[in-house]
Amino acid sequence: MSRHAYYEDLKALARKKRNGYGVDTAAFGLREVRRIYKAESIRIDYWPLPYKIKALYMCADGDCSVAIQRSLPNEPKLFALVHELKHHYCDRAALGSGVIHCGDYNANELIEKGAEVFAAEFIYPEREFAEDVRALSITTWTPEDIVHLKRNCKAKASYTFLRKRLERLELIDRGQFNSVQFRKLEEQIYGVPFYRHRSSS
Ligand SMILES: [Zn+2]
Repeated sequence: MSRHAYYEDLKALARKKRNGYGVDTAAFGLREVRRIYKAESIRIDYWPLPYKIKALYMCADGDCSVAIQRSLPNEPKLFALVHELKHHYCDRAALGSGVIHCGDYNANELIEKGAEVFAAEFIYPEREFAEDVRALSITTWTPEDIVHLKRNCKAKASYTFLRKRLERLELIDRGQFNSVQFRKLEEQIYGVPFYRHRSSS
């Protein structure tokens, strides 16, 4: 199977599972993904993990669990938890009784990238995203446009998620905005969030 066909299969699986769980993009967050974990009988553990590992998936004798970095912000945490769902659905047989360490893209490169593709499609399907973005009628994207997109985004998606999607849809060039510090820019446009004022005082 080609890489492209593998990714397309994973996107179709993500849409099927989404539909099965009645996922609505705008209402899908950590609470909803935890509900799916419960239905799939996957335990979530918060062990201390090396910082390079975002999460790991284990399953032996039907006892399946995911360990995740507690310190991850909400959007990457949601993404990581859905990424792990792909291992649960697709990689259990290949895994045997071992462990998949996620975050290290040198090992298991294809199944890891596949999990990223699955998670992106699950959280915000590409077609839905393309329709929403098209409605904005932006011809030449600027970093400020991406900040506005993020602020008004119905899905819980990080700047990296949105940037990669825009690249994929060829609305921006690959790597065009890699050096932009979007959070900083957001603070310049909208001000520093209240919780940051408090924590820095
Ligand atoms: Zn993974």
